[in-house]
Amino acid sequence: MVDDHSTQQESALRQAARSDQLVFQNPVDRYPAIEPPKQQQSEPGLDADLNPHADIGEHSYRGTGRLEGRKALVTGGDSGIGAAVAVAFAREGADVAISYLPAEEQDAQRVVSIIEGCGRKAVALPGDLTDDQYTGEVVSQAQAAMGGLDILVNNAGKQIAVESIEDLSDEQVAETFKVNIQAMFRITREAVKQMPAGSAIINTTSIQAYDPSPTLVDYASTKAAINTFTKGLAQQLAPRGIRVNAVAPGPIWTPLQPSHGQPVDALPDFGKQTPLGRAGQPTELAPAYVFLASSESSYVLGETLNVNGGMPTP
Ligand code: NAD
Ligand code: MG
Repeated sequence: MVDDHSTQQESALRQAARSDQLVFQNPVDRYPAIEPPKQQQSEPGLDADLNPHADIGEHSYRGTGRLEGRKALVTGGDSGIGAAVAVAFAREGADVAISYLPAEEQDAQRVVSIIEGCGRKAVALPGDLTDDQYTGEVVSQAQAAMGGLDILVNNAGKQIAVESIEDLSDEQVAETFKVNIQAMFRITREAVKQMPAGSAIINTTSIQAYDPSPTLVDYASTKAAINTFTKGLAQQLAPRGIRVNAVAPGPIWTPLQPSHGQPVDALPDFGKQTPLGRAGQPTELAPAYVFLASSESSYVLGETLNVNGGMPTP
């Protein structure tokens, strides 16, 4: 039975992936309301092992030249939202470097081949964001390989659900803040040393910044901090012509969720609480990042663009 249901979900997703993001369609059923079977992967999880598979726009995202000649670094660009952003940027004409953990090489190679299939340069930069040497070097490696950098997407994130604060270890809190916050500060500092006027920085925050789950108090705290970082840095960098904005996703079906990001029992209902009644697919996030990266959003700074299926935000 579970197998039949999984096959139905896969085929509904494959059908949805046939029409691109510019086709007139009903958001309620643009993608099916998936009911992921209970499953668990070890952290960080792989797109390749998700059931059902997630849509990163490989067969649907249609570019219109909005990022022609641009050069982007996307952290966590191997899977989920970061992969969808990397695919969309390449379809819009940008070269793209992706940062990811070495254990994610399989997912990363898929994204590299999609970027190259768009005729753009792809740069694979495996490494751990808790390693200061890596966060000190990854920006210059991306710049050297692409001949510059004018888009930075701070998207990598760590999310581990823990039921009680009494079981929340110092190690987990420190590592979540190191990946989600400290690495973002370090990478951004390196990037702005080189970025020309016209560049864009986009940080991935979350609905968790305003509506925290009881099991995600450490993660949700980092996401609130990312919103505040975005608003402060946007003012600091505005006179230099570098715009800083954020995207706040709602529940999106990615490997973060079944790799301890949610209690396993919660997975079948993932995303059903949204007004649209379904989880989002990673590619539905991509146009928000494209908009904030492109010069068409030249007067948009310090903004958090919520892409969450209709959940109210402050
Ligand atoms: P994902 O698992 O596909 O992406 C997260 C990526 O973070 C991983 O692919 C990995 O490469 C990277 N990462 C984690 N720890 C790392 C480390 N120590 N060193 C290097 N890289 C590391 O999941 P996703 O959902 O696409 O997550 C992308 C971003 O979106 C995250 O910041 C997450 O907090 C945010 N977000 C996700 C959701 C959702 O429902 N999926 C909702 C709101 C916000
Ligand atoms: Mg990944």
